[in-house]
Amino acid sequence: MHDIIRLLPDSVANQIAAGEVIQRPASAVKELLENAIDAGATEVQLNIKDAGKTLIQVVDNGCGMSVSDARMSFERHATSKIREANDLFAIRTMGFRGEALASVAAIAQVELKTKRAEDELGTRIEVEGSVVKDQQPCVCQDGTVLSVKNLFFNVPARRVFLKSLLAETNHILDEFYRVAIARNEIAFSFFHNEKNVFSLSKSSLKQRIVALMGNTYNERLIPVESSTSAITIGGFIGKPEFARKTRGEQFFFVNRRFIKHAYLHHSVENAFLELLPHNTYPSYFLFIEVDPKTIDINIHPTKTEVNFQDSKIVYAVLQSAVKQALGKYSLTPSLDFETERSLDIPPLVGGQMPKPPTITINPDYNPFGNIRQGFERNFTHNRDIEKLFSAGSSKDIPPSVQQNMTVEWDEDTEIQQNKAIFSIQKRYIVCNIKSGLMIIDLQKARERILFDRLMSEMENNQESAQQLLFPHTVHLTGTDAEVLLSLLPQLQNIGFEISQFGKNTFIVNGVPASMSEFDIQLLLEDMVENFNKQKTDLTIDKKTNLAFSIAKSLTSKLPQNLPEKAMQTLIDQLFASSIPHTSPSGKPTLTIINFEEISSRFK
Ligand code: ADP
Ligand code: MG
Repeated sequence: MHDIIRLLPDSVANQIAAGEVIQRPASAVKELLENAIDAGATEVQLNIKDAGKTLIQVVDNGCGMSVSDARMSFERHATSKIREANDLFAIRTMGFRGEALASVAAIAQVELKTKRAEDELGTRIEVEGSVVKDQQPCVCQDGTVLSVKNLFFNVPARRVFLKSLLAETNHILDEFYRVAIARNEIAFSFFHNEKNVFSLSKSSLKQRIVALMGNTYNERLIPVESSTSAITIGGFIGKPEFARKTRGEQFFFVNRRFIKHAYLHHSVENAFLELLPHNTYPSYFLFIEVDPKTIDINIHPTKTEVNFQDSKIVYAVLQSAVKQALGKYSLTPSLDFETERSLDIPPLVGGQMPKPPTITINPDYNPFGNIRQGFERNFTHNRDIEKLFSAGSSKDIPPSVQQNMTVEWDEDTEIQQNKAIFSIQKRYIVCNIKSGLMIIDLQKARERILFDRLMSEMENNQESAQQLLFPHTVHLTGTDAEVLLSLLPQLQNIGFEISQFGKNTFIVNGVPASMSEFDIQLLLEDMVENFNKQKTDLTIDKKTNLAFSIAKSLTSKLPQNLPEKAMQTLIDQLFASSIPHTSPSGKPTLTIINFEEISSRFK
């Protein structure tokens, strides 16, 4: 009988190893980004085509490689980061297993271009399925460009298992977020199918989080800072009132490496306990610094798991740091900028947390209670004030207006020739009319005018988008992103050009000209929030709800200080609208105090 045990050929061994390290395009993205960081890059660009299935490319301005290092880098267990077993206990770099490039090269067509600053020429190497196809000196920039084409081209079974483009893009985005948050001192850019998704300059951690997650995070973050002799904790947590319905923005970094850790997650959740609305999850971006000797990151090929020598201590320190941050915040909610002040406040006794604020709501309140009849009028302009007033239900209209329901428009409600128009507290516009005084609620009036305009634009598809010079990336949480996605066709009708990019991220390429001045992230977030609030009312359709939601969020962002001329225009537009006296939510937009009423007050 012959011996039957043989060594596997390298290419097969590499393919098997690759299966562990590179499960999907996102794994390759992670490894390449980590290599760029280890190379000391200050600028890193990530280029992706077709969710990474066609191309994953990372361009860095790091240290580059010599000719022989370039060739060596594709060998399995080839690493410049550890030399002896002992080095494993002091790891500060992202890589150290020396597997990534060998794995990627086993299952894709890889092109490496690299040059050290001190070298005249760089090196270009082409590897396909672990076989070196070409190696040449080349002219290139200092740093490294690594391109991975047709991932899994020789592992058809893997290719089949890849999820939809959207799902794969999401995984890539996740990896990008993790690295970009961990390394705020590095400038990152991200292109997908040649469209710019992110352009992040070097910035503070807070600015970086805001740049990735959206401007609203400016007001949502509470700093966490705490340090003992063995552990330093830093970063941010989200304010409890902004807790999410879906687990999402939860990031732990140990020595600036993203990790998953159920036990530590529990510690943070516990610190939030009682402060969170039911069924919501806190956001956190927390950095834990410990001596590398006290952790073991080598327990998983993807390096996202970490063993702490004493995880109980980390648990306790983390929990107290988060509680402390929450305590400071809830005791001084509006004193964000005066953190010193909060030091005077006695510590909370026995780990007891402040009670969350409660609010009472009227579950029967229905903002559209009397709006439908108005919609059915089909927006015919009508200056006949009698008809206008009788169109909506009079339930919500105050008696002073109801008394005027029979007044003829051009007679008594006409604004006087020597008119006075002024505003009270920037909220109401007052003007004298023949029959007395008319007081207009600025916000409600604007809602009506914008609502009418949006409704007609949606019907007629008349508005064209104003292209943005730089596309804008908008990030929404899970359910909000789904809502926005469902509204894209209607938004397009009114001049938005938005495409989905990954589950929670959208690229805005165009906005209606009239809205180009607004912060797009805020506008869309607000719009979705308003939309959700009203969604439960089954009597209004999607289009109506959308128009109202946009009208509301725009209104809340408009300046309130109006020159007289603008007030006059607003009044004209209000009276040219479909139902001047009622806002889209069924509230009165104006009220009239007539002479009799005024004179009766002097009796
Ligand atoms: P590891 O990162 O675990 O060492 P990799 O397979 O990812 O293993 O990389 C192998 C080696 O190739 C690295 O140790 C490093 O010396 C070199 N290398 C890889 N990518 C780059 C890069 N972008 N710039 C400079 N050197 C790199
Ligand atoms: Mg590596």
